[in-house]
Amino acid sequence: MPEAPRYVSTRDPDAPAVPFEAALRRGLAPDGGLYVPTHVPAAEPAWRGAASVAEVARAVLSPWLADEVGDALNLLLDDALDFPIPLVPLGGPWKGVYVLELFHGPTLSFKDVGARTMARLLGHFLHRTGEAATILVATSGDTGSAVADGFAGQQALRVVLLYPQGQVSPVQERQLVAARPGVTALAVDGTFDDCQRLVKEAFLDPALTARGLSSANSISVGRLLPQMVYYFWAARRLAVHTPAAPVVCVPSGNLGNLTAGLLAAEAGLPVAGFLAAHNANDFFPRYLAGEAATFAPSKPTLSNAMDVGAPSNFERLSYLFGPKALRRRVQGARVSDAETLAAIRRLYDEAGYLADPHTAVGLQAVRRGRAQGEAGPFVVLATAHPAKFPETVAEAVGTAPPEPLALRALRGCPEAVTPIAPTLDDLRAHVG
Ligand SMILES: *Cc1c(COP(=O)(O)O)cnc(C)c1O
Repeated sequence: MPEAPRYVSTRDPDAPAVPFEAALRRGLAPDGGLYVPTHVPAAEPAWRGAASVAEVARAVLSPWLADEVGDALNLLLDDALDFPIPLVPLGGPWKGVYVLELFHGPTLSFKDVGARTMARLLGHFLHRTGEAATILVATSGDTGSAVADGFAGQQALRVVLLYPQGQVSPVQERQLVAARPGVTALAVDGTFDDCQRLVKEAFLDPALTARGLSSANSISVGRLLPQMVYYFWAARRLAVHTPAAPVVCVPSGNLGNLTAGLLAAEAGLPVAGFLAAHNANDFFPRYLAGEAATFAPSKPTLSNAMDVGAPSNFERLSYLFGPKALRRRVQGARVSDAETLAAIRRLYDEAGYLADPHTAVGLQAVRRGRAQGEAGPFVVLATAHPAKFPETVAEAVGTAPPEPLALRALRGCPEAVTPIAPTLDDLRAHVG
C-alpha cells in the first residue's frame, strides 16, 4: 500500500508533519494555520465500478485513512454515507446539465456528508483511548444542524451549538433546537459574531479546554476529505450518460467544497475544469479574474450559507495550488440575488426542476458559461434542499416546495434549547 499522507500547517510546512488523527483532533494547527496533506494519494481504481456511495468512499478514502483507521473504516463509511446522492439530468434547454443532489441526508444539505463522516472518525479515535470530547460550534445556518445531527449519539462525543437567537430562518431554527442525544443548543442573545467570539474565547479558557474541546468547522480535515467522495460518485454516475469529462460547478462560500473538488482532481477525478459560483460576496471570482487577494466584509444575500467575505479555506487553496494553477483550473462567477430568483423561476419553467437559492447560483453560472460557448457537460453540485428555503422559492415560482419527511418529522418533536447571554461565564455554565 502506498504511504498515506501526513499533515503540515500552511504557515509552517517545515515543522514535523502529524498523522490524520492529530490533525482531526486539533482542527486548526497550533500556529493558527490550516492543515494540508503532504501529498495526494490516487484513488483506488475500484471507484469506477462502484455500486454505492459508500463503495466509492472506500476506494477514494482508503489510501488516506486505512493505515490509521484499519478495518473499521468500511463500516464507518457505510454508516455515515447511508443516503442517496442522485445525479439528475436536466431536460429542455438545460440538456447537458446534471444536478448532483447532495441534500438527501438528515439535515438536507451537503454538509451532512462531511459532518457525519467526521463524527464517526473522531468517535473511532476517542473510543480507542477511552477519552471524551465536546464539540463546540457557532452556526448561522446549515453547519449547526449537520454537526448536531451527525455527531448525536456518537459515543464519547457531546455537541454544544451556539446560534444567534432570532437570526436564523424558521426551518433552520426547527432543525437546530430538535432534541438530540448528547446535543446542547444554546440560543445566544446576540449576533453570529458574538457566537463566534464566544467559541474563540472558550478555546482559550483553561477550565473549558481541560474538558477536551474540539471544533467541527469547515476547515477541519475531517470534513474536507470525505467531500472528495461525491465528486467521484458524480463521475461514476455521469459515465452512464456520456464519456466526456464534466465541468463541475460548485456554489461556494468558505471554499471547503471547492478545495475537496481540487483534491479529488489531484487524486484522479476525470474533470475538465471547475466553476466556482458565488453570490454578491465575490472575493474569489475577483481574485480568479486577476485582482489582488483582499477580503471584504460579508453581505447578506438570498443564498445565505455562501455569505462569506473572507473564505477560511482560501489559505489552504493558495498553499496547495498557487495562483497560476488555481486560475487555470477554476473559473469564477458572481451571481446577484435578482439573477438567483430568475434562475429558480427559469429552471422551474423550462426544466420542471425546483432549485434552492444556493444551487440556483450554480445553475445561473452554468447558464452564463454555456451562453459564452462552453460545451460541458456540466455537473452542478446541489448543496441544499429547496424546502430549506421555502420563502425564497415561493417568491420565485409562486408556491413553496413540498416539505420532505426529514422536515415534517421535526414538527411537534421534542425541543431542547437554552437561552444564554453572550458571555463566557454563561457559556461555561452550560458546557459542564
Ligand atoms: C456551506 C454551504 C455552501 C458553501 O460551501 P463552502 O464549502 O463553504 O464553500 C453552499 N451551499 C450551502 C447550502 C451550504 O450550506
